[in-house]
Amino acid sequence: MDFLKYAIELVAVLLLALGIKGLSKVRSARSANQLAAVAMALAVLGLLINYLGTSGISAAAWTWIIIGTVIGGVLGAITAQRVPMTSMPETVALFNGCGGMSSLLVALAAAFFPLQLEAAGLVAVVSIVISVFVGAITFTGSIVAMAKLQGWLSTPAWMQSKSRHVVNIALAVASLVAAIKLITDGNGTQGLWLLVVASGLLGIGVTLPIGGADMPVVISLLNSYSGVAAAAAGFVVGSQLLIVAGAMVGAAGLILTQVMCNGMNRSLVSVLFGGALGASAASGGGGGEYTNITSCSVEECALTLEAAERVVIVPGYGLAVAQAQHTLREVTRSLEAAGIQVDYAIHPVAGRMPGHMNVLLAEADVPYEQLKEMDVINPEFPATDVVLVLGANDVVNPQAKNDPSSPLYGMPVLDVQQARTVFVVKRGMSAGYSGIKNDLFDLANTSMVFGDAKKVLGDLLGELKELGVGKK
Ligand code: NAP
Repeated sequence: MDFLKYAIELVAVLLLALGIKGLSKVRSARSANQLAAVAMALAVLGLLINYLGTSGISAAAWTWIIIGTVIGGVLGAITAQRVPMTSMPETVALFNGCGGMSSLLVALAAAFFPLQLEAAGLVAVVSIVISVFVGAITFTGSIVAMAKLQGWLSTPAWMQSKSRHVVNIALAVASLVAAIKLITDGNGTQGLWLLVVASGLLGIGVTLPIGGADMPVVISLLNSYSGVAAAAAGFVVGSQLLIVAGAMVGAAGLILTQVMCNGMNRSLVSVLFGGALGASAASGGGGGEYTNITSCSVEECALTLEAAERVVIVPGYGLAVAQAQHTLREVTRSLEAAGIQVDYAIHPVAGRMPGHMNVLLAEADVPYEQLKEMDVINPEFPATDVVLVLGANDVVNPQAKNDPSSPLYGMPVLDVQQARTVFVVKRGMSAGYSGIKNDLFDLANTSMVFGDAKKVLGDLLGELKELGVGKK
């Protein structure tokens, strides 16, 4: 029975590793996700088979595992179907929280029931301590992050003062004392509950002051924590699969956190300890009035597109909000049919989570080869006739390169202003995520096309048809 269990676990680990690797490419992401789901199903199967050979474990253990798997699977499937892409950060936060809570509960169950903390060895106790500490922080921190993103929770004024650091340090010290007490004298119940409460409050204390703009970075970090907690829980229950899977999630989450910090030009320290005063509010830069706005009609936009040889599309958060990806694809199909070269410029933090734009465009069957990363497309803008900026704002703001007082200064951006003509499709003059003015809109080669992205693209499609673009 042991051989079968280890064989299943090994296959599951391999599938999981392949799944995570496949997620790094848009083309393989869907099948990679399915591989990872199969790995999880195998993990549950391995657990059930393990119990077959264990005497003293009743059918009740099987029943609980199956009930838990079915409930979790059904809830996961329903959530995946219903949640819109724009709410993905909140959903990921909730899932991270569930991961943290699971590790916390596994460690508590192991401490109170089969292991008997007092009698457990050093490795088991240390694993329980880590699992409880990181699991509790991940759980409460993720729930706070989700509630803030949903708009259910805002940062109380006192949480923005420096005194919050004193409270957080006190909670960290209490957690440390409880952990040391548990490890050195194995004093189970009291120390364990102190650790649960102190680390749970620490998760709230650290996450609550963080501003909305930095929340996706925090979610990615919490994702990494949930991996660490799962790996520690793996040591607690002796599951190699959980250890490997947890370690992979922990490492992947950390790398993602780093990528997002670079993409937004924020250091992790300023995200974690900077508080709710986001970059824009803190620096006071990036303001000012618009002085040279030119707007144009959809018809003028269509005429310019008709005459272009090379067009670059810049998708942003507004495109996702408008759910205009399918209409966009129809527009680009007719441009391509007219022999116009079309590419899509993908900024690493366009939208509200990494990969947001890739997923959105993949939904509309945009060929992967046409998605160009920022470093690849930036040198190509001077040779581009028309750039169509669709519901994007911060990621095309030249202030990031030209204005040292701007909160965006240093953030890598798409150099769309170097193209011959830039059309910006948005509903009005409201700011993007950073809340600041966009100098691109004032430039002589930029024209605003006001309206909801889906409506404008629908009208544009109509104009292109009337002009006979794409028709032989
Ligand atoms: P953005 O700066 O948030 O701008 C989106 C623009 O879309 C807004 O200016 C809005 O203007 C417009 N818009 C909204 N609904 C629209 C609709 N229905 N039709 C047309 N336009 C619409 O978006 P972004 O350029 O994609 O930049 C992403 C921002 O999010 C960056 O600041 C980035 O740092 C931040 N962020 C991203 C991540 C990530 O991982 N991707 C993580 C954290 C933060 P109107 O209201 O005038 O229409």
